[in-house]
Amino acid sequence: MQRILSSEVKDQVGQSVLMRGWAQTVRDHAKVAFIDLRDRKGLTQLVFTGNMLEEVRKVTPESVITIEGKVAERPQSLVNINIISGTVEIQVEKLTIESIAKTLPMPLDDRTVSEDIRLKYRYLDIRSKKMAENLRLRHKMNNLIREHFTSHDFAEIETPYISKSTPEGARDYLVPARIAPGMFYALPQSPQQYKQLLMVAGMERYFQIVRCFRDEDARGDRQPEFTQLDVEMSFTSPEEILALTEELVLDLVKKLFPEKTLTTPNVPRISFKEAMEKYGNDRPDMRKDTSNDDELAFAFVVDFPLFEWKESEKRWDATHHPFTSPAPEWEDNFEKHPEKAIALQYDLVLNGSEIGGGSIRIHKPDVQGRIFEFMGHTKEGIQDKFGHLLEAFEYGVPPHGGIALGLDRMYTILLKEQSIRDVIAFAKSGDGRDLMMNAPSEVDESQLKELGLKLIK
Ligand code: ASP
Repeated sequence: MQRILSSEVKDQVGQSVLMRGWAQTVRDHAKVAFIDLRDRKGLTQLVFTGNMLEEVRKVTPESVITIEGKVAERPQSLVNINIISGTVEIQVEKLTIESIAKTLPMPLDDRTVSEDIRLKYRYLDIRSKKMAENLRLRHKMNNLIREHFTSHDFAEIETPYISKSTPEGARDYLVPARIAPGMFYALPQSPQQYKQLLMVAGMERYFQIVRCFRDEDARGDRQPEFTQLDVEMSFTSPEEILALTEELVLDLVKKLFPEKTLTTPNVPRISFKEAMEKYGNDRPDMRKDTSNDDELAFAFVVDFPLFEWKESEKRWDATHHPFTSPAPEWEDNFEKHPEKAIALQYDLVLNGSEIGGGSIRIHKPDVQGRIFEFMGHTKEGIQDKFGHLLEAFEYGVPPHGGIALGLDRMYTILLKEQSIRDVIAFAKSGDGRDLMMNAPSEVDESQLKELGLKLIK
């Protein structure tokens, strides 16, 4: 017999069926026992009577079972509209216990359980309805993103994870290189330079759903590794990039979250200056009613300042990153009035959270050189860190620009979660640990030796 799922069983009244899954609850009422069987589509009520009772008493909650039985319509008064198969139940005739579960260390679907326990037993936590739903919806959103960019003639191209440091303003994760003791790869803070090099390579339209790595102190909306939708285009304008992004987010809401309301039918553009004056920050929450979490207010913040003063280092630093182009009128004189210079840079904001940002890039090697120098890089430093990019720009580089959206953060808001950890299957704890795998952890002396490393105790 072929297995059927909880979503299919209501159409099988009178038939013999085979079902497989987890015994979510086991209720023993002496002459009759019930199991709510859970599979990937939901729950089905199983009924055990007569000689099946002895067997069913061995089943503990969360054990894995296979059953065969007959589908019966439930009397009207016992219909349960909360479960997908709620109009029917199964009179079980055969039970196989595939594996017995110990008592779970935590109840499922109980958000008062400490998050550390949920993360340690993540494979159990994902059995909960909300986490499982979050992950399936995450897949649907990723899928919609891929369809959107594919339909606009973009290609998804993978870029390396073991790479060289690329500045996004955070600390790098370093990977010691066995092939060159004493040297290190860095995990990319974003594929920024690779995507620009893909523009030099003539790919013209790139996107990628990609992991980024930043060694920052973790917070509610940060993880050491997080997922970006990364986009880059040649021969483009800020408006074209914003329009593509706008079409994407509106489509996402319309198709996957039809119950939500948009504060404005389109994504409004507001300048950095106006946002600071009106809202006192550069990620304005433009919702009409902030207590209603089904209201979504997207906005683009545009015309960011090119530089910000870094008091700790006593130097000007790029507001976004050093590849961001000054507005045309600032290209020749940003050094004279760095505090006033405007960048071709934009952010996407949702309900008061920054969920993305991007810019038109500098494609003139001399302007890029001047920006690096102005930010305090030495000639040798520039050559060492960015020589490959500047050299590439000497072989015919198209004007280009792009954007990246922080998908974990955007999904957290859309799924009405508190923390980005609730939209990530195997999230790290607040202090950056993998509590399930127990990482970071010590390594063997022999591994260190191979890498030419010695620990300072
Ligand atoms: N690489 C940038 C970031 O991670 C986004 C971009 O400029 O496209 O914020």
